[in-house]
Amino acid sequence: MTPEKSKNACQGLGKVQEILERFGVAGDADWAAVVLFVRNLVAEMDLFTESQKAAIQARAFEQMAMKPLDRQRFQRVVASIQGFLLDNSKVADLRDQLQAERDGASALYSEMSRVVQEIQASSQTRQTSLQRMGQDTEELIDSGDSKTEVVRRFRGMITEMVAQAREEARSWEERAKQMERTANFDPLLSELYSRRALDTQLGAALGRARKSNRPLSLMFLDVDHFKNINDTYGHLVGDGVLRVLAAVVSAHAMQFKGYAARFGGEELVVLCENMDEDTAMTRAEAIRRDVADCPCQPQYEGPAPDEPICITVSIGVAQLGPGQTASDLILAADQAMYAAKTGGRNMVLGHSAIQASRKA
Ligand code: GH3
Ligand code: MG
Ligand code: MG
Repeated sequence: MTPEKSKNACQGLGKVQEILERFGVAGDADWAAVVLFVRNLVAEMDLFTESQKAAIQARAFEQMAMKPLDRQRFQRVVASIQGFLLDNSKVADLRDQLQAERDGASALYSEMSRVVQEIQASSQTRQTSLQRMGQDTEELIDSGDSKTEVVRRFRGMITEMVAQAREEARSWEERAKQMERTANFDPLLSELYSRRALDTQLGAALGRARKSNRPLSLMFLDVDHFKNINDTYGHLVGDGVLRVLAAVVSAHAMQFKGYAARFGGEELVVLCENMDEDTAMTRAEAIRRDVADCPCQPQYEGPAPDEPICITVSIGVAQLGPGQTASDLILAADQAMYAAKTGGRNMVLGHSAIQASRKA
């Protein structure tokens, strides 16, 4: 610790001591921990907004102002801090993500159970049909028919079995594709890859970019004021709006071989291999324009909203820099997206342009 920092820390401790004395609990380790937490630690956390930080402090000090400051009061303060920790937008996002993971896993589980049952049924059918063929063959040989007739009928039986096997293989191929979709695509926005698939793809794309020395860019897209859509029309309409957005984004991504995935909630990502930041920004601008210009008519079970719903998106774009990891790339695009939000929303911003303007 530098002398300056150590001086500040001592002054900080003096202030904490002063607060504890004011509340009449000087020297009490539990209350000292509360004051240190709400006053010093919370200030450093980016989990909370500034107004939430102020509310945590105000709530704790409000409680501490009530007498007596006994064990019960202490537990009440701890519970209220706990409430703040569990009830904030980042935790809510994590909860949503976890729920999406759960939905995906349970869809995959029920599909696998179905497949296992079908495998059992299919192997039973095959066994029965082999037995039947054995019996038919014996009967055919014993039938006393001419040799040519026996061969003709035997050929017919074989052809039928081959056709059945072909049909079975085709249906298993379909099944495998379906399972792949369930495993890799988002359960709600089925046109988009899931977060898990994105992580794998991003790792692989990063390896390819390094090996080939080609650019790799990423768009981070967030719906503007999406809470308003849910609040105005309800969550189901909100889901429908997200499905329309997913279709627009995935149609664009298909045109330039982008990998469109749901990052979480109303945040999407498009991974653009062999594309630099400038080109990715042009592509992102086309997406932004399309979304803003085309009010959507979401499909869902329920009365349709009176008029089409207009949404806009803010998009941050970043290009992988030397020595950067997958998380660095996501973070850079996310930062650019936040800059687009603070810049007025419904816009595309590139990470390197922001860096350059900060330096200037
Ligand atoms: P902005 O991003 O412009 O700052 O505002 P916002 O209103 O979009 O802000 P925020 O990111 O805080 O809110 C996102 C909302 O999206 C909150 C959450 O309830 C909602 N959301 C997330 N996932 C889904 C989903 O799958 N369906 C629906 N209907 N809503 C979702
Ligand atoms: Mg968001
Ligand atoms: Mg949003």
